[in-house]
Amino acid sequence: MEQLTGRCGCGHVTYGLRRQPLIIHCCHCTDCQRETGSAFAINVLIEAEEVEIFTGAPEAVLTPSESGSGQKIWRCPHCKVAMWSNYNGAKDAVHFVRAGTLDQARSITPDIHIYTRSKVPWVSIPQGARAAEEYYDVPEVWPAESLKRRDIYLTRRRS
Ligand SMILES: [Zn+2]
Ligand SMILES: [Zn+2]
Repeated sequence: MEQLTGRCGCGHVTYGLRRQPLIIHCCHCTDCQRETGSAFAINVLIEAEEVEIFTGAPEAVLTPSESGSGQKIWRCPHCKVAMWSNYNGAKDAVHFVRAGTLDQARSITPDIHIYTRSKVPWVSIPQGARAAEEYYDVPEVWPAESLKRRDIYLTRRRS
């Protein structure tokens, strides 16, 4: 797979992913629907330090979440387009990169659909695709290589 690269709406912030994603979510939760103004969000999960910023400096905006713990959404300081978020679960170790900001957005296919309980009725989950009513058990779903990488960032967070 070629290197994934992306940018904000005005081009001030450009970035690239140094590694392949840990996993790709298609999230149908009501937070994602509200924040994107759409039916779902596609999030490419990757270690924060593997996101390389080529130009610009995204700013963090604290945004409420349904769980009450909040999330940090990183936006271009000029056009305010959101490029990635940090959620409470993985703290700041993992960036949830918004697939639509990638130059290769059309080649991104979700590994799993989550929070399908709040999916809009006119969206159908593709046949054979993995799906969860809410969240899922990470060790059950992530590829072995991604789980190894997860062990590394979880260990680092504890130390
Ligand atoms: Zn911008
Ligand atoms: Zn969501």
